[in-house]
Amino acid sequence: MTDLVEPKIEIAGLKKSYGPLEVLKDINLNVATGEVVAMIGPSGSGKSTLLRCMNLLTIPDKGTLRVGDTRFSFDAQEKPPKDRELASFRSRTGMVFQHFNLFPHMSVLENVMEAPIQVRKLNRGAAEELARSQLAKVGLVDRAGQMPHTLSGGQKQRVAIARALAMQPEVMLFDEATSALDPELVGEVLNTMQNLASEGMTMVVVTHEIAFAREVADRLVFMRDGVVVEDGPAKDVIDNPRQEATRSFLSHFH
Ligand code: ADP
Ligand code: MG
Repeated sequence: MTDLVEPKIEIAGLKKSYGPLEVLKDINLNVATGEVVAMIGPSGSGKSTLLRCMNLLTIPDKGTLRVGDTRFSFDAQEKPPKDRELASFRSRTGMVFQHFNLFPHMSVLENVMEAPIQVRKLNRGAAEELARSQLAKVGLVDRAGQMPHTLSGGQKQRVAIARALAMQPEVMLFDEATSALDPELVGEVLNTMQNLASEGMTMVVVTHEIAFAREVADRLVFMRDGVVVEDGPAKDVIDNPRQEATRSFLSHFH
């Protein structure tokens, strides 16, 4: 029966090259509504490029991408989507990076209010209310008035998550969101992500946190050389990888 339910994210025949380098080779990937997909793989395997293609920070050469009701079809010969279309689409596919990129001259609250005001055209009152509720969700409403440089790395990353959530995205994409953090700060960010997952957010999470992937992700995707090598239930893939490449990669983690 679940086959009848349309996936939230649908990627088909997606390709991306940089010059002669084929970074993504015919990627097919669906993500169900509310599903958490962890993506792992060696450095340079194309994980970031695939994630960037999912919110069109990078424009694919070929293939189709659908998120919710918005569908794009790519062909290197055709004109890329218009800037306005891209901006609107990106705001509905929230992205959190390794480096938080908060606006350093704005308070925590203003950081979270900025895009709702600029992109969603909310008035300041509505934007502030929205921002405070998202900050509450990541446990930082009491830090609203502080400047980013006064926060820990983990807190900054939680603000970055709140900032993406303030655009009320349909999906959240995380690209090694905890890789730049001191080890003792990783847990609070993973907790925030786990809470989001348990609220039913559709998430794609590029991570090296295998224990997190095993516990929180529904599915695990292993990428190598621009190809999805293995895709299955997270616990199954981690405990019993079918492909030698997956087994070999995972062996580095324990
Ligand atoms: P991963 O996130 O798995 O480490 P990336 O998607 O960042 O992999 O990179 C995949 C490959 O694409 C790498 O060889 C990288 O050097 C190359 N690449 C990524 N972005 C660009 C770019 N903007 N220009 C040229 N090459 C790129
Ligand atoms: Mg990467």
